[in-house]
Amino acid sequence: MTGTTVFLFGLAVGSFLNVLIHRLPRGENFVSGRSKCSNCHTVLRWFDLVPLFSFIFLKGRCRYCRERVSGRYLFVEILTGCLFLALFFLRRPDSFYGYLDLSFWLFASSLLLVLAFIDLDYLIIFDKILLVLVLITFLYQVFGKYVVQLEPAIVGGTFNINHNLLTAFLSGLVFLLIFWVTRGKGIGLGDVKLIFVLGFLFGFPGILIVVYLSLFAGTIWGLALILFFGASMKSRIAFGFVLVNSAIIFILFNQFLTTKFTPYIIRLYL
Ligand SMILES: [Zn+2]
Repeated sequence: MTGTTVFLFGLAVGSFLNVLIHRLPRGENFVSGRSKCSNCHTVLRWFDLVPLFSFIFLKGRCRYCRERVSGRYLFVEILTGCLFLALFFLRRPDSFYGYLDLSFWLFASSLLLVLAFIDLDYLIIFDKILLVLVLITFLYQVFGKYVVQLEPAIVGGTFNINHNLLTAFLSGLVFLLIFWVTRGKGIGLGDVKLIFVLGFLFGFPGILIVVYLSLFAGTIWGLALILFFGASMKSRIAFGFVLVNSAIIFILFNQFLTTKFTPYIIRLYL
């Protein structure tokens, strides 16, 4: 499998993620529903929907009414393509199980992208996506531990369901406490569910690194909003969005992040 194939596959997946991001919050059917132009409502044909190429060929406009198509669609496609390419080259699978492991992380990060963009638009963490994420993580853990006895791809993580479940409950509990203490002003209930799922996905210390990354990114985002965009201390940032993106960064660079930061983080607690 070459990088080009992986990138094209990522573009195609990204195009489907766009459909999910657009339709899930509206309660629309994402399997049978036909894609329409949001301006003239013409049902789009397959050649209007070829990832990347249709956008370039039509110069980012609808073929029928010439209305501008949001650049977001193109952005999500290219982002997914690049993400798939990066994961492929960082993991360099060389066996059937290597590819299976890569497929899992491609699937998981695709779901995380959908969560991120829905949260950015609506400030909600979409429950159904979280459920699918929990389910595939469970299967991945069981399969890795009992069927193939894989070396876990996440450094420091193990194929130990009990360990990951405990991490999930503890992280969820900490976030639930923050939710109660701040009366939902600091984080939402969606973020509590999200951290539970991420804890289950990454185990310890992975989840701690994800939280640190999020606090760092969230602080910078908040400061930038206040300094450059005149936002007040009260304006909300989509913390779920930050959390999910930190999770994707952790999936990409966990080897580096875990070996670099775990000793430092552990020292904070000793
Ligand atoms: Zn149109």
